[in-house]
Formats: sequence, C-alpha cells, structure tokens
Amino acid sequence: MADNLLDFDLPGLAAWCEARGEKRFRATQLFRWIHQRGESDFDQMSDLARPFREKLKRDAVVEGLPVLSRHDSADGTIKWLFDVGNGEAVETVFIPEDDRGTLCVSSQAGCAVGCRFCSTGHQGFSRNLATHEIVAQLWYAERFLRAHLGRSDRVITNVVMMGMGEPLQNYGALVPAMRIMLDDHGYGLSRRRLTVSTSGVVPMMDRLATDCPVALAVSLHAPDDALRDELVPLNRKYPLAELLDACNRYLPHAPRDFITFEYCLLDGVNDQPVHAQRLIELVRQHRRGGGVWCKFNLIPFNPFVGSGLRRSTPEAVSAFARALNDAGIVTTVRKTRGDDIDAACGQLAGDVRDRTRVHERLSKRRVIPLVSADLPTSGNPTSGGTPYATR
Ligand code: SF4
Repeated sequence: MADNLLDFDLPGLAAWCEARGEKRFRATQLFRWIHQRGESDFDQMSDLARPFREKLKRDAVVEGLPVLSRHDSADGTIKWLFDVGNGEAVETVFIPEDDRGTLCVSSQAGCAVGCRFCSTGHQGFSRNLATHEIVAQLWYAERFLRAHLGRSDRVITNVVMMGMGEPLQNYGALVPAMRIMLDDHGYGLSRRRLTVSTSGVVPMMDRLATDCPVALAVSLHAPDDALRDELVPLNRKYPLAELLDACNRYLPHAPRDFITFEYCLLDGVNDQPVHAQRLIELVRQHRRGGGVWCKFNLIPFNPFVGSGLRRSTPEAVSAFARALNDAGIVTTVRKTRGDDIDAACGQLAGDVRDRTRVHERLSKRRVIPLVSADLPTSGNPTSGGTPYATR
C-alpha cells in the first residue's frame, strides 16, 4: 500500500527518502512541494529528478480527506465537514479576522471526555485521527483558501487544536502533525500561533512541555471540583489542584507567559457571582510569583438538543467578566462568529453518524438539575455561533 506523505514530519520524510536511496535534502524539496505549495501530483514537482518522481508514484500518495460539505458564513467563516470513513466525519473551521486567519482543527472523531456542554462529547468517542488526517485539514484549507481568495501568500496564520476531540488523548498523532505545522519548510507557524486546547490531561501536558511546547488553552468551566466533576468528567481523574499545578509547570516552557483558561458560561450553573468569586480565589491560590499567569476567555454557551443547559444572559456574562477584570484577571468574552451556518462544533458530524448508540448513552446520563425545558433546537454548544468553541 502506498504511504500517504501527509503522515511524515521532515525527519520522517528524510528517513523515508533515504530508505529509497535518495539524499536527505530531496525530502526538504518534496516537503515544500507538499505543504508550502499544496501540490499532490508528483509530475508537477518539476525540480525533482524523474527517477525520484517515478519512485514516488510507485510508493506514495499525497491524499487529503474527502469533503462532505462546506458551509460559508456571511462573516467569512467557513466550515468543512470531512469524511474519515465508516460513517464518521470531522469538522474544520476557518475564522478570518483583520490581522489573522485561524483554522480550528479536529484531532479525534468524537471524544471520550464527555463534557456536559459539548455536542461532540455527547456523541461519544469513535477513534483517533491519524497524523495525515489532522494535517490534511490544514493542507486542504490552505490550498482551498488561496484559490478561493485569489491569494498566493499564506492565508492561515494561526491553528487552534480546538475542534472535535481531546488532542492530548491522541498525543502520538498530534505531535508529528504539529511539527509539520511548525516547520519552516512546512507551514512555518510560530509556537505562539499554534494552540493546543485541553480539558486537562495532566501527564500529557507535562510531556507536551518537553516535546512540543506550543500555546496552551485549558478548559476550566468551573471554580471547584464538585462542579467541574459534573461539567468536565476528566476532573475526577485530574482534579483542579493537579491541573493548575500542571499549568504552572508548563508555563516556563510556553511560548507565551500565560495560560488561557476557557470558561463556558451556563445559565444558573457556573455563571453566578459566587462562582466568579471562587474562581478569583482559585487563581490567587495557584499563582506562582507575581504578574499575569493566566487569562480568561469567557464563552457564551449555545444550547443544542439534549444538553439540558442554557446560555447565560448578557447581563450575567458582563457581570462575570467585570468581576474577574476588577480582580486584576485579564478576561475577554469570545465573539460570536458563523451564526448563520449553524457552526456548532460536532453537530454536523453528529448528523452523519448512526445515532442509535448515542441516544442510548444520553438516556443514561445524569442531568444537572438547574435548567428548564424550553431549549432552542440548534446552535453552537459553547460559543453562540463561534465555530471553534466547544472546549
Ligand atoms: S469540550 Fe473538548 S474535551 Fe470536552 S467533550 Fe468536547 S471535544 Fe471533548
């Protein structure tokens, strides 16, 4: 079977070339063709010798993922649904802003963490994506956007591993994929512009600090263990004190001098003044040294069928943000994007799947008794339309 070259970081590709009697520098040329120019046809790689191209045609492919659908928002946000086989699909979202273009990338089909407020989590876990399936999202999107926007320069300047899945539970495929994104011969992203978002897989945070320290975002969502156990079940394994200690260990390695904490505001569940106050205490307890060591990103929840949760009122969101900012904790509220394409992460992919087992699972879940029944039937679980906001 032919190897998909989207699977290889540059050292891996050099070894692959050497095994076929080619010099290592050929791998750099090949890597640039694939990732910088988005080329998949070996015959178009004009500076590679013909015998090498013949070997490539015999032993390799550069193969992206089939696109099931594309949704374009009036605000420029674009969402793709990619087929990963066996009735599974993953979502990728491009979010343009004045000074950057961000791609939100999925790392798993489904997710095993099962956060209460997350559409992907409600679908359960199917499988880890391979390195080539993670990279293919960026490879395709960059190629598409250049053609679509008529640009020859790089369109995607930032990548957030914040789509479907818990990236640190797919560590083996994630790290080579990120090395391809960071490589100057690949996508040339700086470590500050590549973010891993985790629900708090503590041992893997420590490994990431050594192996591939990129910007880190942590899904916090609650100020104490009792509530976080309910909202982010992984907390039962890695409680808040352990998680925040891991954040402090990560900081010296991080490309930024702070960790971003994400906090999805849920009406009546975690958005009250008492929660803000506990959060401030939590941050103060765990701050090592002076200065800013974390920033908060508040995410207004957007309900979905079966969540049993509601979005906080604008007044509650403002009051929560004000309380944190007044306490000296830099806090922003995530803007909504892609409302008109129903960009709820995980929802389109969920529609593709056989949902029988999902409904079984949902019927067994414990529901937090803080909500009323009149829920909207669609929307992004955590961001009010921000497509990359399920974590
Ligand atoms: S928020 Fe992230 S970690 Fe939690 S269930 Fe959703 S995808 Fe998984």
